[in-house]
Amino acid sequence: MQIIKPQTSKGPSEWFTGDVFPTIVLAGTDPSRVRMGSVHFAPCARTAWHSHGMGQYLHIVEGTALLQERGGPIVALNPGQTAYTDPGVEHWHGASPDSFMVHLAIWEAPTADRSQPETTWGDHVTDHEYHQRATTGGTT
Ligand code: MN
Repeated sequence: MQIIKPQTSKGPSEWFTGDVFPTIVLAGTDPSRVRMGSVHFAPCARTAWHSHGMGQYLHIVEGTALLQERGGPIVALNPGQTAYTDPGVEHWHGASPDSFMVHLAIWEAPTADRSQPETTWGDHVTDHEYHQRATTGGTT
């Protein structure tokens, strides 16, 4: 048995807007390529636009999450819901303006040797982009 001590640090301003604290819960060792983070967002805080080489699952634990894929609507997700974004699809996720938000993020590294990026980061999400009206997510 292993007891893993999670590592928490403030998310860097290149990748996030506002106060975001990712905790790396686990990072599998070869041949496992799984990663899981528990991420705490303050109100209005969000990721920059980015994509994942192997896609990403987001499971909402607390608060109201906002998730948008490039070209699509902002979707509001509630605790207990899980969303999946396909490999290479640019998107952002974050807290709503009026609540803290916690989600689990689960993804895989494309290769065990780290020769391909797990996440490709782009521009910050502007206030104009962030404050578009959100639609409600599915009921699953
Ligand atoms: Mn993501």
